Amino acid sequence: MIVVMKPGATAAEIGAVIRKAESLGCKTHPIYGDNRTVVALVGDLTRLTRETFDQMDGVLQTMRIQEPYKLLSRTTRPDNTIIDIAEGRVRVGGEAVVVMAGPCSVEGRSQIIEIAHAIKEAGATVLRGGAFKPRTSPYDFQGLGLKGLEYLADARAATGLPVITEVMREEQVQMVAEYADILQIGARNMQNYGLLQAVGKQQKPVMLKRGISGTIRELLMCAEYIVSNGNYNVLLCERGIRTYETATRNTFDLNAVPVLKQQTHLPVVADPSHGTGLRELVPAMSRAAVAAGADALILEVHPDPDNAVSDGRQSLTLEEFATLMQSLRRVAEAVDRTIAAPEMVLA
Ligand code: PEP
Ligand code: MN
Repeated sequence: MIVVMKPGATAAEIGAVIRKAESLGCKTHPIYGDNRTVVALVGDLTRLTRETFDQMDGVLQTMRIQEPYKLLSRTTRPDNTIIDIAEGRVRVGGEAVVVMAGPCSVEGRSQIIEIAHAIKEAGATVLRGGAFKPRTSPYDFQGLGLKGLEYLADARAATGLPVITEVMREEQVQMVAEYADILQIGARNMQNYGLLQAVGKQQKPVMLKRGISGTIRELLMCAEYIVSNGNYNVLLCERGIRTYETATRNTFDLNAVPVLKQQTHLPVVADPSHGTGLRELVPAMSRAAVAAGADALILEVHPDPDNAVSDGRQSLTLEEFATLMQSLRRVAEAVDRTIAAPEMVLA
């Protein structure tokens, strides 16, 4: 249920609604939009009726939210949520489409710094790189761990680019949050509820990737776990799902982009690298994702993809990435967006 406040409702009026709801046994989440404030009520609503709040000062109306994802629903908040990354150096969810790029894995200090400079030059505004890698085989490279996080921080210091990196376990959340500007929850961990709660209890932005066999509704419910623990800074990422198709590594579900934009106010990120698994398909699907309304792209880029320690087959070369950025600007313009520019957003 949401209690919609009148435009200009005072803090005291909002506070009175919150106190009344809590005295009746439910949890409250005030959501401040550009045009209106709502108080979302979750938990045990059995002692509430439609009339409970109607006569209170500052209250416009009370509405039931039909969707199971209460806090993320577009009904709860019609405006797009815009998420500030690194104290607002980059903003995701607005008119400018953010491009995040970098290697699948951080392989070394000079490697990540070289890539960071190259992607910045080409126009990316966030650096990606895995330090803790979820690998199908336990014998494959598992990531540089803490050293990888330190190298990412060095690359950020060298270029000013905020960094996104994966956190795989609950116990690592605090450590990864000390280094990263965005915490990535990988596809394999979409439904790791303990991890979702842990990233929900801290305030660094989180990018939640869709599970390999997760439905869009399940993705939204998992994001609701994060938000209901207090962290509204969540980005949702479509990265392809498993189907019977074998021509590509995954089936990149582009439908998810407009479906998510319709269902929720959170920003949507598209990952055509994992979505296709094939470098030569990445430019076309990146352009398609921007045309479909994605708020950000995350792309794997490597100076020597054939010798990358992971996901080389789907990684663009530095030159391919720079060429792609040119055409992304044109597609963005065609759909009344821009590509977030480093000089606009970086200190
Ligand atoms: C990655 O981003 O490198 C990654 C492991 O992604 P996913 O969790 O989508 O497989
Ligand atoms: Mn990868």
